[in-house]
Amino acid sequence: MNPWTNRPDARDTTPTMQILRARPATTTAGVLLSPDLTGAYTHYWRGRTRICENPNCDPCNAHHKPRWYGYAALWSPNSNAVALLELTPACLPQIDAHIQRHNTLRLAQIRLRRANNKPNSRLILQIDLHPYPSGNAPPNPDVHATLERLWECTIVHPALEISRLALNNGSDR
Ligand SMILES: [Zn+2]
Repeated sequence: MNPWTNRPDARDTTPTMQILRARPATTTAGVLLSPDLTGAYTHYWRGRTRICENPNCDPCNAHHKPRWYGYAALWSPNSNAVALLELTPACLPQIDAHIQRHNTLRLAQIRLRRANNKPNSRLILQIDLHPYPSGNAPPNPDVHATLERLWECTIVHPALEISRLALNNGSDR
């Protein structure tokens, strides 16, 4: 590898975003920027989240079940902050209904809370019938690249690659 370059690799210039998980007794609200979820099966293994590398996956080989999480960029119009919102399969009926109605998740106005005060209780997602009215929302950040950077993985999972293509082909669909 040639160490002399005018700019760092794209991976190293992707702005980091915090992953936002719904906390008990708190409602998370904002506007989604991504046209769809970017999802992956992951393990929480040896102190950090890592992507499932099945069939050559250490956690799977240790009978640790992978779990699916979906991510979308969430924008707060008040603070102008953008974070990566973590969603679970429990949120998919509302997500899919909104995509069917509007052909995109982008500009969906959401409220997310937990079913009770336990930190891992079921997520309850509400999406407003009408998307955020303004066109001045920031562009969708590269969710896939951000996750790769956060999870320190370079492996391109086929499912992730498909959703990245879908994002690139229809960033404002
Ligand atoms: Zn695995």
